Amino acid sequence: MVSFKELGLVNTREMFAKAIKGGYAIPAFNFNNMEQLQAIIKAAAETKSPVILQVSKGARNYANQTLLRYMAQGAVEYAKELGWEHPQICLHLDHGDSFELCKSCVDFGFSSVMIDASSLPYEENIALTKKVVDYAHQFDVTVEAELGVLAGVEDEVASEVSHYTKPEEVVDFATRTGCDSLAISIGTSHGAYKFTPEQCTRDPQTGRLVPPPLAFDVLDAVMEKLPGFPIVLHGSSSVPQEYVDMINKYGGKLPDAVGIPEEQLRKAAKSAVCKINIDSDSRLAFTAAVRKVFAEKPAEFDPRKYCGPARDLMTELYKHKIINVLGSDGKAE
Ligand SMILES: [Zn+2]
Repeated sequence: MVSFKELGLVNTREMFAKAIKGGYAIPAFNFNNMEQLQAIIKAAAETKSPVILQVSKGARNYANQTLLRYMAQGAVEYAKELGWEHPQICLHLDHGDSFELCKSCVDFGFSSVMIDASSLPYEENIALTKKVVDYAHQFDVTVEAELGVLAGVEDEVASEVSHYTKPEEVVDFATRTGCDSLAISIGTSHGAYKFTPEQCTRDPQTGRLVPPPLAFDVLDAVMEKLPGFPIVLHGSSSVPQEYVDMINKYGGKLPDAVGIPEEQLRKAAKSAVCKINIDSDSRLAFTAAVRKVFAEKPAEFDPRKYCGPARDLMTELYKHKIINVLGSDGKAE
């Protein structure tokens, strides 16, 4: 048993309380490898933004939970080396799907876990979430739960259709489970293909897909029922056209990839939405940079020469999100 406090990490409680009060959101970036982690920490340290490092079940399988934990521990020290005196870094399990997985992360030094039982019937979602909360809270680890179903694919989480969160359920759910934050479904979606072309309209000038707007009425109703309660948005990548274009230009094939427009996320960040999950955008940045090097310098075979530019592009992306979308810069001096 290792406490996250010994590792210099923080849970989400204070982060979220401040974010709601201040009208901004905390970035939750997924990481699977060293370059991604370096980029996240560099961006957070340079902007003095609190940050949530997310580990999905897929990341655990890919990179190994032990290694990821020590990387997060190293990230705290790295942040200090970069001149960030009091790093506010949370290590969070993304989409935990069982009590055992959540418990293992709590025991291992994570400061926050998500139990995603949203695919289960309502009462079973409550029972499993409460079991995780009861365990995690003994160690001051915060718990994110989910109500409603997001469409799209993220590692092992996949659903073809989304079901918006029912605002009439949120008070009962939050009270009976004791969860610290709630992921809701208002039309965001996992992956780089958040909407089918049929769900979108086309911009007559650029020919690009324009996605349907988020269901802010559902968000408003949830906030009215649970005033001041931390709300989380998953699947909130914007799928920047410049990265999609770069990938396609250098031999990739991502036709009609579409994300959530940043102005909608900006609007959400000012509300009780205090955690916004971004994963696909950094995957796109990484891939775009690597493809460019491969296309322009076919003789290159030193991974540092293509992972380095990928890291730089991800750092730029993370800083852009922090400063221009979430507004969390300067909130953790
Ligand atoms: Zn998610």
